[in-house]
Amino acid sequence: MTDTKSISHDLKLGHSDGCQVCNSKKLLPVIDLGHIPPCDSLLTKEQLNEEESVYPLRVFRCKDCGLVQIDYIVPPDVLFHPTYPYRSGITPSLVKNLQSTAGKICDKYSIPENSLCMDIGSNDGTLLKGFQAKGMRVLGVEATNVANIAIADGVDTMQAFFGEEIAKQISARYGPVAAITATNMFAHVSNLGDMLRGIDQLLEDGGVFVTESHYLIDILDTVQYDSIYHEHLKYYSLRPLIRLFEQYGFTVTDAERIPNYGGSIRVYSEKGLGRPVSNQLNDLLREEDKRGIYNDDAFVKFRDQAIKAKLDLQEFLLKQRLKGRPAPGIGCPGRSSTLLNFSNIDPELMPYIAEQSSSLKLGLFLPGTHIPVVDEQKLFDEQPEYAVLLSWHYAKPIIEKLRSKGLKSKIIVPLPELHIVD
Ligand SMILES: [Zn+2]
Repeated sequence: MTDTKSISHDLKLGHSDGCQVCNSKKLLPVIDLGHIPPCDSLLTKEQLNEEESVYPLRVFRCKDCGLVQIDYIVPPDVLFHPTYPYRSGITPSLVKNLQSTAGKICDKYSIPENSLCMDIGSNDGTLLKGFQAKGMRVLGVEATNVANIAIADGVDTMQAFFGEEIAKQISARYGPVAAITATNMFAHVSNLGDMLRGIDQLLEDGGVFVTESHYLIDILDTVQYDSIYHEHLKYYSLRPLIRLFEQYGFTVTDAERIPNYGGSIRVYSEKGLGRPVSNQLNDLLREEDKRGIYNDDAFVKFRDQAIKAKLDLQEFLLKQRLKGRPAPGIGCPGRSSTLLNFSNIDPELMPYIAEQSSSLKLGLFLPGTHIPVVDEQKLFDEQPEYAVLLSWHYAKPIIEKLRSKGLKSKIIVPLPELHIVD
């Protein structure tokens, strides 16, 4: 255990040849998704005339600690530029889940009313509203301009990248913090050491830090290779997480699987080493071992399934194109960029992607493949024979909604294996 004390978790930018948690050089290749642009760098019409940056997107697995990770770190200011177009508050199921996270933490730890609770990567303040509903004081830290939406909505938010420096300022201005959350951003952080030292400074004794990240078991089970993109540096399972937190003086005391983003893991880490852990955590650790996620076979299977899904989609869309009826896409989550770039789907095969009217992505073009993102009204007007559901990880509620709004097209669900919903 002592040798982990010296490992830095503040990553160098660019190619990395060591494991992001344990620094081992024994990294085994899982899948190479090619050189592709950052998934949320959507382009304006003018930018289509300019050069476009691409970065390697390769997945490896650490033979020593089991962490699944990519081996190229794109500078955070390239990925999370001020005009980053993502908003959690426009996906109703996500709003419900995020706000229940806040409520659950307050109940589980009996946090007294009026305590300070924080969210890092707080986006439009959706999760913090759940804390407000429980009578807590709240503070968000958000790097992009989405912070302004939260502030206008009455959620106190600092626009910054979180780290030790910001933690000092917060500590001086607001005092100790009872609970800190980091949902769907913890796996994005390249300055993890800086972040965890900052969290340690802010949390009061017995305070809890709660993360939610894509869960490796779900990624493998449903072949979510499209959830791999440059923002996601790590694809967590529990063993590497426990090891990471230990170095910063935290005990992972509980964990649970949750449905967010196609399957995530919520992990509770309490300040202080050697704290008692839940049966639920031990059960999950046994499940991970049973499923073989620390062995090769699971990853060979995953790669084969991903390649097959890619070829099936190409074949289907090519046939439709040859019949003169190319299929549009539905929904433009970050993952659609990996799916379409890896599968080489261009505007000839997919003439447009339909997004709901409230989306910040309308009028822009998908990076790499340059498919235009348009208002979903076009889909309802045209009623194409087939359309590809790119936000397939929310298939059921989205298809129900599209049907209720009158869409008659047959819907192609590209993963875990290509299938058609009439
Ligand atoms: Zn490792």
